Parts: sequence; structure tokens; C-alpha cells
Amino acid sequence: MKFKSIKGTKDILPDETRLWQLVEQNIRETMELFNYKEIRTPVFEETSLFARSIGELTDIVGKEMYSFTDRSGDSLTLKPEMTASVIRAYIQHNLGEKLPLTKVYYISPAFRQERPQAGRLRQFHQFGAEAIGGSNPEIDAEIIALSAAIYKKFGIQEFQVKINSVGCPVCRNEYKEKLKEHLTKVSDKLSIESQKRLETNPMRILDSKDENDTILTHDAPLMMHNLCDECKNHFEKLQEALNILGIQYVVDGRIVRGLDYYTKTAYEITSDELGSQNALVGGGRYDLLVKELGGKSTPAVGFAAGMERLLMVLEKRENMKTDTQHPKLFIASADELSYKKVLSEAARMRDAGIACEIDWLRRSLKAQMREADRQQADFVVVIGEEEIKTNTVVLKEMKSGNQNKLSFVELVNFLTAKK
Ligand code: AMP
Repeated sequence: MKFKSIKGTKDILPDETRLWQLVEQNIRETMELFNYKEIRTPVFEETSLFARSIGELTDIVGKEMYSFTDRSGDSLTLKPEMTASVIRAYIQHNLGEKLPLTKVYYISPAFRQERPQAGRLRQFHQFGAEAIGGSNPEIDAEIIALSAAIYKKFGIQEFQVKINSVGCPVCRNEYKEKLKEHLTKVSDKLSIESQKRLETNPMRILDSKDENDTILTHDAPLMMHNLCDECKNHFEKLQEALNILGIQYVVDGRIVRGLDYYTKTAYEITSDELGSQNALVGGGRYDLLVKELGGKSTPAVGFAAGMERLLMVLEKRENMKTDTQHPKLFIASADELSYKKVLSEAARMRDAGIACEIDWLRRSLKAQMREADRQQADFVVVIGEEEIKTNTVVLKEMKSGNQNKLSFVELVNFLTAKK
């Protein structure tokens, strides 16, 4: 084979797109139920937008971005996530001036050069939402409820919502020193990755996947026990709001998230059905990002979720088998001379909004009938000399075998009524 798709990318084939469409439609309906409006941003942005927002020392910026220099010498990057682009658009188009609380959602491809494995791709798709302009903890609770509602809409109940607070610059810097001091005592026993993080991002050591790191850090101080009054109050109010909204959650002091811009609330939704890449959703509050990217200081909160991971859970479910797309009518041609009438009838059907198919390969009538079956057409007519002369056709319903004699005019009306 001469060309193959790039490692870590996937073709979504005609048999699979129906499920994607259904999933996207359900996501849109749930987002709109919570009054979020869709935003679409370009696939690439200036590299510095991501470096600035996600953080130079994160895995994403440090080793996973698809960055390239274009012909004018500008460094551009395929978006590795959506929040930075959404905030860039929010600032650029003054969205905050139109509405004090801007609520937007997206469904978008994202690109990261990771080691491909089940549930981890290089081009994947994220859906997510951002509420920009409010600092109240109830908005964090709404974001969590919205992400959970999407899984519930698909009948997925078996997931865990884990919440934490990662504090703010006031309490976090003090806490980081405390954590570093604690971890330094065991630093030579930590994994190489965690040893590197001790200087750059010690909080990430707490969510290390290395079992030995987890054991070594079992008594490490946690951010949630070292919050300033404001962050502590916010975390308590968030839990109160989640209780009111009926969202089940656990407090997990080890959820820190990989991105630099989080403040206060950080959360994840995980599923045991997924194996090692078990994160369905990641999200939280990022009160400093709008200012960091050149806008007015504006609090915000959001989440991002992986489409492929949602689909992995759904594909295990029988009830998610979708209808395949199929034509309502297949028009077969009895002979070469009738082919023109078949073409014009097909055009008339489509003008009337009736999905229809004909035989484009000029096959025998028997082969055309087999094709109508393969296409799962609901109805079939055969047009030949006789039909043209009498201006009538026999419409056969494939499933029941029922037949109806109709004029060409009646045919459109009959099928329109069956839509
Ligand atoms: P993150 O921005 O890393 O928190 O990602 C948010 C969500 O996107 C995760 O919870 C996953 O569901 C999904 N995700 C992240 N990276 C990948 C990837 N490489 N392949 C597939 N899904 C991903």
C-alpha cells in the first residue's frame, strides 16, 4: 500500500459516521439544554498562544504539540486543546461586552503527538464547554453537571466524578514549598519523570501513574488541606451546589490536572470501562487565563472531554447500534431505453425530498434488485416500457412485500406521506 493514514490518526468510515452524528447531536442537545452556544475556532493558532496558556513546562507544550513554521516564518501549532483558542476568540471579539457571562461549547478535533494506544490518539476529538465571566462556585457545579448530563443522556451511569481544589497563587505557592520539602525526603526513590517534576511542577507528582510514586506520596500534604479562606469557601460552596444538583462526587486531593492555568476547582470524570486511559472528562476553573492572554481579568470555568473515549464506552452497548443511512426508494431500470426515465424520476424524487437511488452501473435487473436489498431501500419500483406507456408503476415495500399500483404523480405523494 502506497499511502496510509498517519500513526495515531483514524479514518471515520461510512459505517461509523452515523454513530458519530448521533453522538454529536446528543451533545449539542444537552449543551443547548444548559443554554451554551456553539463556537468554532480555526484548527491552527500562533504557537505562543498555547505556550502562554497551557504552560511551557507541561507535557503538551514541552513534547506533544504539532508545531511548524509556515512560509512567512511564523510558528504555528495545530490546536492541542480548545480552551486557549476559545479564550483568544473571546478576547478578540469582545464577547464579554455582549454578555456578562458568556457560555459556549465546542466539538472539535485536537492534535497531540502522544504515544498512540487504546484511547490515545494523535488526532482526536474533544467536546467541551466554557463559562466565561463568573466567579461563583455554582457555575463550576453547573459545568460539572453539564458534563455528567451528557454521559447520562447516553444511559451511561457508571462513571466517577472526582473533585479537588488546586487553590490560587496566594495559597498554592506556599503549599508547593511545603510539598517540595516533603517530597525532597523521598526524591531519590521517585520515578525519573517525578524527579524531573519536583522542580518544575511538584503537584503533578501526586497524580503520577507510577504505583511506587503513589505509595511514596501517600502521606504528602494535599492542596485541599492548605487552601486560603477564599479558596476553601469556594470549595465548600461548590460541594453544596453539587449536592443541590444531585451530582454524586468524591473529593480526591490528587486530582491536579496537567495544565498550568487552573485555579480553585479541578475535576475529572473517569470510567472503569476504559482501561488505563480512563479519563472521560477533565475540567476546572481558570480565573487567570483571560488576563494572561491579554484580556481584562475575567474568571472562567470549563471542561473538555474526549469523543473517542465516549464512543469506546458506547460501542460496548447493544442499544447504541444505530440505523444505517439508507434510501427510501430504489428505482430499477428494466431496459436500456427506460434509463432516461429512471434518471428523470430520480431527480423528481430528490426535488420532493425523497432519498432515492438508482443503478449507476447498468447491471441486469436481477443484480439491481440485489443492490436495492444491499442498500436497504424501503421501497423499489421497476421502470420499463410498459410503465412508461401506462404511466403507472408497481411500488413494492421491501420488508412486507406489499405492492401498490400508482401513477408517477401518486408515487411522490405516497412516499412523501411515508416520510
Ligand atoms: P486534557 O485536556 O488532557 O485534560 O484532555 C481532556 C480529555 O480529552 C481527556 O479526558 C480525554 O477524554 C481526551 N483526550 C486527551 N488526550 C487524548 C488523546 N491523545 N486521545 C484521545 N483522547 C484524548
